[in-house]
Amino acid sequence: MARVGTITTPHGEIQTPAFIPVGTKATVKAVLPEAMADLGAQALLANAYHLYLQPGSDVLDEAGGLAQFMNWPGPTITDSGGFQVLSLGVGFKKVLAMDAQTFRRDDVIADNKERLAHVDDEGVTFKSHIDGSMHRFTPEVSMQVQHEIGADIIFAFDECTTLHNTRGYQELAMDRTLAWAVRCLDEHKRLTDERSTKPYQALFGVIQGAQYEDLRKKAAGDLGGLVSSGQSFDGFGIGGALDKDSLGTIVSWVNQVLPENKPKHLLGIGAPEDLFVGVENGIDTFDCVLASRIARTSAVYTMEGRFNLSNSAFKRDFTAIDDECDCYTCTNYTRAYMHHVFRGKEIIASTLATIHNERFIVRLVDQMRQALLDGNFADMKADFLGRYKHRSGQARD
Ligand SMILES: [Zn+2]
Repeated sequence: MARVGTITTPHGEIQTPAFIPVGTKATVKAVLPEAMADLGAQALLANAYHLYLQPGSDVLDEAGGLAQFMNWPGPTITDSGGFQVLSLGVGFKKVLAMDAQTFRRDDVIADNKERLAHVDDEGVTFKSHIDGSMHRFTPEVSMQVQHEIGADIIFAFDECTTLHNTRGYQELAMDRTLAWAVRCLDEHKRLTDERSTKPYQALFGVIQGAQYEDLRKKAAGDLGGLVSSGQSFDGFGIGGALDKDSLGTIVSWVNQVLPENKPKHLLGIGAPEDLFVGVENGIDTFDCVLASRIARTSAVYTMEGRFNLSNSAFKRDFTAIDDECDCYTCTNYTRAYMHHVFRGKEIIASTLATIHNERFIVRLVDQMRQALLDGNFADMKADFLGRYKHRSGQARD
């Protein structure tokens, strides 16, 4: 199901498959927009929940939209905030894509954490992680916030569940996500008409259904064919509970049903081995905070696998992080220097490591695109995973 394409937005084109780096709060932490462009980022993804809380979506609207505000001339995307709002309910920053299958209940809360979000059929009430103030997101509010932020691609507001939820709850959440999808389309249409001087924002629906084939296919069928107020979804995100072992299976169920002529985005997935699985099952774009988040803890990707630059083994290693990498960091700095700046807690450590990791992932997906064009994707995948997995056992942190 792998394919090559072009997504056209008011701020430029995205050649797919493509990895979209994440700048959650309108900045890719520690890296200038120019450096992101230089390393090949075609678009950036920010988060509606975070920008709504700070500085406020009205500020971005006044600034002329996200791209203008953050000095990024290319395409931008915002996630709806559904994931962030809901993940507060299970402990902020806790990853929802868990693989634990040992227990199932619907009110999972991280130990010693107060539940910060409550869902009902109308929307979600949540407490700000910044100042404890109470807020309410509904599908309409999410659309209003994302229209003010002004990204080229925006996402419908969905209820994101975890693998811990019961089958019954997954069904309930899916019905709710469908009802919310209709309300998103209606509000999106209303706002598009009201703000007719602004560039058109593409609205992507989000496919839930956890690990259940019938639920995933039903969600894809329902949202794929959905029309309300004369508006349908311009593309789709595949979200929710996705465990690594069944990722490819779930994506293929969904993409067999979704309309072929619309872009498919895999939300929050960015580990190298998972990107191959996504591409071969028809995913066009990916986003993930992992590349930049792990970079700030000194973890880097290489052709030999992932390792930690702060490890004392690198103190006198005067080679590049990855001698096959063409990034600014690998061209100009050694592992020994990187080890030194990480050990010294120098700010430049985060900058240089993030540039390398983002380039590694962006380039990997670009190479997949080229391999698809050249007709040798299977060979390229076997080569990469043979090497990457072969040594990663020893090199992983
Ligand atoms: Zn590099």
